[in-house]
Amino acid sequence: MFKKILIANRGEIALRVIRTCKEMGIKTVAVYSQADVDAMHVRMADESVCIGPADSTKSYLSIPSIISACEITGSEAVHPGYGFLSENANFAEILRDHGIKFIGPSVNHISTMGDKINAKVQMETFNVPCVPGSDGEVKNVNEALMIAKKIGYPVLLKAASGGGGIGMKIVPSDVQLETLFLQAKSEAKKSFDDDTIYMEKYLEKPRHIEIQVFGDGNGKAVHLGERDCSLQRRHQKVLEETPSPGVDPEEIRKIGSVCSNAIGKMKYEGAGTIEFLYENKEFFFIEMNTRLQVEHPITEAIYGVDLVREQINIAFGMGMSLSQNNLNPKGHAIECRINAERLPAFSPSPGNIKEFHSPGGIGIRMDSAIYNGFMVPPHYDSLIGKLIVHADSRSMALSRLSRALDELIIDGVDTTVDLFKRILEEEDFICGDYNIHWLENWLADQVQ
Ligand code: ADP
Repeated sequence: MFKKILIANRGEIALRVIRTCKEMGIKTVAVYSQADVDAMHVRMADESVCIGPADSTKSYLSIPSIISACEITGSEAVHPGYGFLSENANFAEILRDHGIKFIGPSVNHISTMGDKINAKVQMETFNVPCVPGSDGEVKNVNEALMIAKKIGYPVLLKAASGGGGIGMKIVPSDVQLETLFLQAKSEAKKSFDDDTIYMEKYLEKPRHIEIQVFGDGNGKAVHLGERDCSLQRRHQKVLEETPSPGVDPEEIRKIGSVCSNAIGKMKYEGAGTIEFLYENKEFFFIEMNTRLQVEHPITEAIYGVDLVREQINIAFGMGMSLSQNNLNPKGHAIECRINAERLPAFSPSPGNIKEFHSPGGIGIRMDSAIYNGFMVPPHYDSLIGKLIVHADSRSMALSRLSRALDELIIDGVDTTVDLFKRILEEEDFICGDYNIHWLENWLADQVQ
């Protein structure tokens, strides 16, 4: 097994990876920016290396600094977590060239899936159903008008290199198409340095359902069911649950085997997530993430599997211990993303944590890297914790979540905790009757 792994990340996910490494007897190396000197992942790792200033482009995103940290510490492998360099094919390639194992899929798979147009083409060859839309890039306004006419309005313009909902434009009719097309192109250029735009039918009331997959890199693959991530704001996930209250388990089994078949045929290595929109009992592929997701703990809860351990074993070449027949989900799990944000605008709320008390008891997992006196830095993503509950049934999971949210104390910064308490009182949510627009519509009603 690897003797030492460097974690190229910060916050709760760095801690999450350190936990599994410790249980596996693997030494860990934390990297940190000058803003994270007092961060918990630095304290919990066996060694740590400062890799630059607060600005993430000069630290957590600096490939030379991270490679140097690997070399100084003699790290044999890198776990990238999520975000930062986790889906950067160039990073994976440079690591490979330095003889350091990237814990994730091959360079080729990262780059194919990183381009959403290529990803759709690839998935179509494996009979994965995709959202109707353009065959690849939409080059100009005239082409856009023609394709939109064919697939029917509303349509969605998306950036091929997009992420985090940036660069997406909903076009209601051909009157707005030209302006929105040019806007989408310039936003994509600015954010991703790639102005390639493609078009999809805009689905009006879908759920976001994603399938967790794992491959051993040699053709063996499994799926670990779905996660329903329909509760979103600005195309960003806020709360996730599994199983989905809106999809029949038999349909999940079918789409799950389509996904594991694709992953096996691709000879994909490690963890991945195949994201779909689900409407009128049909699945439509939108993208694949070639890394561990923020919301992976709900899958771990119902399957009783440590996904990070599985990633590390596969990366080391020990093969996959998972087999489809032995993967039997149990109960229901829900995750709330606790962000340091001030409502109603969800503006970042960095600052000093004056008091932090984590809930506990049966079926509760709190993944967080904050502590009393911790300064939430203003430089990074506002996620400060994830509260995950697991229970025998959905209704028990809802009661448990409500109880846990009442126990959770975070003073000093504004958080999304109260938002979850209010959502839990909503009839639609209690019944599981929501789609990707539900939260935004509900928030709009609250302001009036
Ligand atoms: P990103 O990489 O920016 O997260 P995705 O393609 O994963 O982009 O889409 C993010 C979210 O945007 C989805 O979960 C969904 O809410 C919305 N979305 C994406 N494609 C469509 C579509 N064709 N119709 C309706 N909503 C969509």
